[in-house]
Amino acid sequence: KGRSGHEPEFLQAVQEVLESLEPVVSQMPEIQEYSILERMVEPERVILFRVPWVDDSGKIHVNRGFRVQFSSAIGPYKGGIRFHSSVNLSILKFLGFEQVFKNSLTTLPLGGGKGGSDFHPHGKSEGEIMRFCQSFMTELYRHIGPDTDVPAGDIGVGGREVGYMFGQYKRIVNHFTGVLTGKGIDFGGSLVRPEATGYGCVYFADNMLAQQGDGFKGKICAISGSGNVAQFCAEKLLELGAIPVSFSDSNGFIYDPDGIDAEKLAFVMDLKNVKRGRIREYVEKFPKATFTEGKRPWGVKADCAFPCATQNEISGEEAAELVKNGCRLVAEGANMPSTPEAIDIFMKNGVLFAPGKAANAGGVATSGLEMTQNSIRLSWSREEVDEKLKGIMKSIHDNAWDAAKEFGREGNYIAGANIAGFLKVARAMTLQGVV
Ligand code: NDP
Repeated sequence: KGRSGHEPEFLQAVQEVLESLEPVVSQMPEIQEYSILERMVEPERVILFRVPWVDDSGKIHVNRGFRVQFSSAIGPYKGGIRFHSSVNLSILKFLGFEQVFKNSLTTLPLGGGKGGSDFHPHGKSEGEIMRFCQSFMTELYRHIGPDTDVPAGDIGVGGREVGYMFGQYKRIVNHFTGVLTGKGIDFGGSLVRPEATGYGCVYFADNMLAQQGDGFKGKICAISGSGNVAQFCAEKLLELGAIPVSFSDSNGFIYDPDGIDAEKLAFVMDLKNVKRGRIREYVEKFPKATFTEGKRPWGVKADCAFPCATQNEISGEEAAELVKNGCRLVAEGANMPSTPEAIDIFMKNGVLFAPGKAANAGGVATSGLEMTQNSIRLSWSREEVDEKLKGIMKSIHDNAWDAAKEFGREGNYIAGANIAGFLKVARAMTLQGVV
């Protein structure tokens, strides 16, 4: 804590993991003998760099670029790049730390990392976005590689930005390799990668419901965010017969009492991905819906909640509101969207709770499948990738369930995911000596 006292998000993520690992540490003395936890909370390497770029008027700007290479114990560093004004070392260390466990859970050989910049893409022109991505990669390229560190997208980084970064990497190193995932389909991207985090989250939640003999048909679902994860979460929910009723962005949320059907979802996808508009514009097109400025959608009546925007977006009071309104399942599409107070309330009220580490691992898992396709220079069909994703989400669910049970925390997916993710990394670290 002394070393990271100024990193609140990182401490929050570490605290949750360490609490879950108590039963493991007490049963396995080698964890202390090999100082596994002390080593695990320190990133292997942090890179911090200047990103200068020129706006359309000729003015020079300087942003900060980061890459946190957290753990390579079980594979090359892997994790997204985030562009958002709030990005700092605490946020990237929390994300990189969580990524280590998440990637271990995917069953694939992936280490953990995360990167990004405090560059805020809103309101920037195409040219400005491209020049920023090129400048960012002009430094990052020397620290990454297909067998070293393979970044992907995250908040503010989608297919467009990955494309610009990939183009610049290739130009500098003169190699066509799978150094980034989430690439366009025509240059090494995988089918289903854009959908994978949202779909995977719903597959995970479906496994949880199945465990209780239940399913999604007719379930009302509150969703936050309106970006990549939120959109494809809604798409899969619709496919399974559930009824999404909300979306949000940093200005507020929309609530549609009639449900967001496929046609309305297509409008949202066009609004956010093509027109790059704001979610409030939904109510101009569908006037029965309401827009609430400056609030999140946790006061709406829903059976299930899918927080898919950002960290700490469900407070204790909002969690209590969700429970009061009948919410029985929360699956985190975003990373650490529930505050510790919110999680406490969900647990005390018997809400089925899927932590992001497990529930949103479908994205990185499919990135792992993209890496495999790049290595063998083949592309798998949509059905093939989707089947693999479904299978991986079931394995993650079952592994988390079994690990929680084995260590006396039956039904606690937080403990299960942390323990199952940890054990594999800890075993690898033990066998690799003091590194
Ligand atoms: P996008 O940039 O596509 O969408 C993010 C959405 O969340 C936007 O609607 C955005 O609104 C909103 N948002 C972002 N920051 C804030 C904030 N501080 N307050 C309120 N709303 C906010 O990102 P993704 O959908 O890719 O990512 C969403 C979450 O899912 C993140 O936590 C990310 O780490 C996590 N995740 C993503 C994966 C992926 O494959 N993309 C994989 C695993 C996890 P606005 O436009 O106003 O900023």
